[in-house]
Amino acid sequence: MSTVAVLGGGIGGLGAAYYLSKCPQVTKVIVLESSGRFGGWLWSTRRPDGAVFEHGPRGIRPAGAVGRNTLNMVEDLGLADEILPVTYSHVASKNRYLYVNKQLHRMPSGLGGVVRTVPPFTRPLLLNIAMEILKKRGKEEDESIHSFVSRRLGQELADIAIDSLCRGVFAGDCRMLSVRSCFPILFNSEQSKGSIVLGMLLGSGGGPVVPPGRLAQRSAKESWAQWSLIRGVQSLPEALTEFLQQSGRVQLHRDEAVTKIRPSGSGWTIHLEDGVLTADHIISALPAKALSLALPSSCQPIIEQLQDISTVTVAVVNLEYQGSILPVTVRILQRG
Ligand SMILES: Cc1cc2nc3c(=O)[nH]c(=O)nc-3n(C[C@H](O)[C@H](O)[C@H](O)COP(=O)(O)OP(=O)(O)OC[C@H]3O[C@@H](n4cnc5c(N)ncnc54)[C@H](O)[C@@H]3O)c2cc1C
Repeated sequence: MSTVAVLGGGIGGLGAAYYLSKCPQVTKVIVLESSGRFGGWLWSTRRPDGAVFEHGPRGIRPAGAVGRNTLNMVEDLGLADEILPVTYSHVASKNRYLYVNKQLHRMPSGLGGVVRTVPPFTRPLLLNIAMEILKKRGKEEDESIHSFVSRRLGQELADIAIDSLCRGVFAGDCRMLSVRSCFPILFNSEQSKGSIVLGMLLGSGGGPVVPPGRLAQRSAKESWAQWSLIRGVQSLPEALTEFLQQSGRVQLHRDEAVTKIRPSGSGWTIHLEDGVLTADHIISALPAKALSLALPSSCQPIIEQLQDISTVTVAVVNLEYQGSILPVTVRILQRG
């Protein structure tokens, strides 16, 4: 029986606390969040006219074991009725643009998009896909996403599509990011099936098996590309916080910054700005720099690695148009 301290109350910390609260070996979970609200980057501004502005994430992918697991949790939290799915056939999925060589280009989509040459690409993507199956398996333990995609699918795809994708998803440079960490499915597909395409078709294997609940089954049946929540993604940390408060085993602390963590006996001492507490185990869901500052000097190699992770500034622009001028359908949620 043990006490677990979860450092950081973003979605990572709240998610960890959710699973710990269901674990019979854990008697107490303590979540420590430095700011005045839980959710971290999941932060939505809701306006009285119904408009929702997302400060951070706005679309969550349902695919794979992680996607299914998240949907299972969303269903368990009672948020199934608030889901706002975006299917692959939706206008928002089909109309994605890239600004290349001073021109906007619509990204190829559907079968027609891969069999024809669609600018800014100089040949049909189907050729890259077909040749990928014949490429030899890489021997590196890890490599950059750019090098991996150039090797398997061609440099043009890496330079144009993957570069932009990585800037959008990770705010990072695909020449610096690890394929193994960022796209384990692609990496594992090459390792197990010798090809990304075959891995996608046959399954790359090896990952955790997550049986889909009703919501995850619906997402597969309706071909969701992404989903959000009608009152914004912030509804997820709000529902999690409510669930954890009611569980009886979780203590949630806001405005409690972790300053130091130190090993003590068989557990840990956690120093806060105005106090100290102890736990048998710690799960850190802190940003890399915050964790590096809290670790003892005996963890120097990890501290250096954490401090090597650079960050950049990202700006999010939300636009609201007067009147209903966009070709999208809106579902209004009736709340009882
Ligand atoms: C602009 C933007 C758009 C994004 N869009 C998407 C998207 O559309 N889809 C998607 O899937 N992902 C998206 N992401 C990524 C996603 O938001 C993050 O991966 C996720 O929110 C990270 O959650 P986290 O809990 O790990 O970290 P965080 O959300 O950063 O949470 C860390 C928490 O730790 C707290 N903390 C910091 N220091 C301390 C301390 N010393 N003591 C205690 N607490 C501390 C912070 O206050 C914070 O609450 C986006 C990210 C950004 C920035």
